[in-house]
Amino acid sequence: MCEKTEVAVRQLEIKCSGCGEIAMARAEAVYEGFKRVGEAYVCMSCGMRYASAEETPFVAQKRPNVFTEADRDAAPQVFDASDRQHCCAWCRHMVLNPFGQRCGVMNRFTEATDVCGDFEKRPE
Ligand SMILES: [Zn+2]
Repeated sequence: MCEKTEVAVRQLEIKCSGCGEIAMARAEAVYEGFKRVGEAYVCMSCGMRYASAEETPFVAQKRPNVFTEADRDAAPQVFDASDRQHCCAWCRHMVLNPFGQRCGVMNRFTEATDVCGDFEKRPE
């Protein structure tokens, strides 16, 4: 059986049981042939190797809590309801026929997404 390891860029903090220090661990991918079978961790202070994540004494990572749940719910509102449906597709002057769509005020062909000063919302 051939075991090949590859250095990953990830670095993680551990309380090493080899040297007893809070140190960084280097994650190494463990391969069996060409198949990745897991990850080993090596203490960067003393070089002690832990064969799997379960055996590695990671220091609990505290994530800074900058945002609260309330921040997640409040999506920024860029447009209000009056900004919506404010284009030719929703305009009462839009004339649809089999050859195209035309503005009844300007008497020219328009695109559904065009916007103009003569917009008047079509009654629903
Ligand atoms: Zn160590």
